[in-house]
Amino acid sequence: MSSAKRRIGPERNLFRFRKIDSDKAGARNVVTNDHGAFAILDDDQLDLLVKGRVKRGTDLFKELKEKGFLLDEEDIARVAADLDRRVGYLYRGPVLHIMVVTLRCNEVCRYCHASRASMKETETDMSIPTSEKVVDMIMRAPSDTLTIEFQGGEPLANWEVVRHVVDYAMEEGRKAGKRIMFSLVSNLSMMDDEKLAWLIDHKVQISTSLDGPKELHDENRKLAGGSAYEDCVKWMGRINQAYLDAGLDPDLYHVEALATITRKHLDHPKELVDEYIAQGCRAIFLRPLNPFGFAKTKISSNDYTGQEFLEFYVKALEYIIEQNRKGVEILERLAAIFLTKVLTPDDPNYMDIRSPCGAGIGQIAYNYDGGIFTCDEGRMVFQMGDDLFKLGDVDSMELRDVVTHDTVKSLALASTLDSIPGCAQCAYKPYCGTCPVYNYTEQGNIFPQNPTNDRCTIYMGVQDRLFQYLVDDDKEIIDLFHRWVEVKDRPEYMHDERRSEDR
Ligand code: SF4
Ligand code: SF4
Repeated sequence: MSSAKRRIGPERNLFRFRKIDSDKAGARNVVTNDHGAFAILDDDQLDLLVKGRVKRGTDLFKELKEKGFLLDEEDIARVAADLDRRVGYLYRGPVLHIMVVTLRCNEVCRYCHASRASMKETETDMSIPTSEKVVDMIMRAPSDTLTIEFQGGEPLANWEVVRHVVDYAMEEGRKAGKRIMFSLVSNLSMMDDEKLAWLIDHKVQISTSLDGPKELHDENRKLAGGSAYEDCVKWMGRINQAYLDAGLDPDLYHVEALATITRKHLDHPKELVDEYIAQGCRAIFLRPLNPFGFAKTKISSNDYTGQEFLEFYVKALEYIIEQNRKGVEILERLAAIFLTKVLTPDDPNYMDIRSPCGAGIGQIAYNYDGGIFTCDEGRMVFQMGDDLFKLGDVDSMELRDVVTHDTVKSLALASTLDSIPGCAQCAYKPYCGTCPVYNYTEQGNIFPQNPTNDRCTIYMGVQDRLFQYLVDDDKEIIDLFHRWVEVKDRPEYMHDERRSEDR
């Protein structure tokens, strides 16, 4: 039957809703659908939608049809294309490849997720032959754009292998027709001028951890015979200067830093943000503690509750917005990840907040000895003595064995929100994610038990606060949020190894 002959219509698309209390606009309902569109409705408007009584020709009808809540036959292909674009990460395969080139580290962090080894334990260094086998596997990934991320321990402790991997991957990437980005996650205390010049020359992106002002940073991260903070901020400044000297736009090219929040941070949200601003950072990533490594065994994952983190986070976010109103440009990454999903048709493909998550199908972690894991967090659980997330090793597996491994399938199932009680009904399902490794470590089950899951508490609270801002409809803040979700390509970091005829 053609749509013109339908007696009633259009059809209502599946939708979910959640009430948001806003100081300025009062209570409103945030209504979302699977392809990520949202509408903010009052109770009467929601009632009309629920009962299928929205009248054609009204503004409400036009908005709901435009956003895919009401579907005539001609809308279905458009909405399906929107959904297809949003889950585009599913077609790309593993794009993020994490190489743990050593477990050795010269710092001792209270919360070390990686369960570091001492600087003497050179047996935890990746060898050159193993690194080549890892790169060979990475080059078989189907995506023509790949990221290789160096992790540790402290990756600069195995500098020879970092250099070799970059050179070898560029060579192999050329043959395989890949675009490759390299990223080095370092505490910066083993950086020197020669290494920095080489990293800049070879377009390796550098990121670090900055846990706040000196007192907080040095409390969390101990460096024998010195201050971890002093080394970190000294090199952040020098790296940023090196980008400037190379003629790169400082808006795009600067050290990325993230903060791991411990109990001591909870009373100091402003001081933490001020430190990032003082160091010239354009972004701050406020990360809750992960219950892996020393964070689990030494300071306990119960360092604070999800609710306590959330209260800290909201204060920090409000302060960041206040600073932006005064002309300081700094964004918060967790907010930007959610806002990109809410305000744009795209998904930023952040592995831990997508459905299904990236374990084995979006990212793979390679341990120093060639062991293969679903993700770096799965490897961290292994370092704690549990091999549940180990898939095999580079000597005995092909890439196809990795992505089709039963463990990878199980984690994909356990992180597909449509099938999870609580998430399946949640208005934030189109924007959210759950971490099976976190769930397993904290709740003994790769499937989340949402009512008592601290990560759900945090994600729900963060999205509630963001939607309060959207309901308030303050133009200055909405404009700021749109700036936060602008995709800024950094072409200088991309090694485009494709032959020109492949482009
Ligand atoms: S299991 Fe957790 S850490 Fe690993 S990719 Fe999924 S969400 Fe991320
Ligand atoms: S994890 Fe929590 S906030 Fe996220 S979709 Fe599930 S229920 Fe909603």
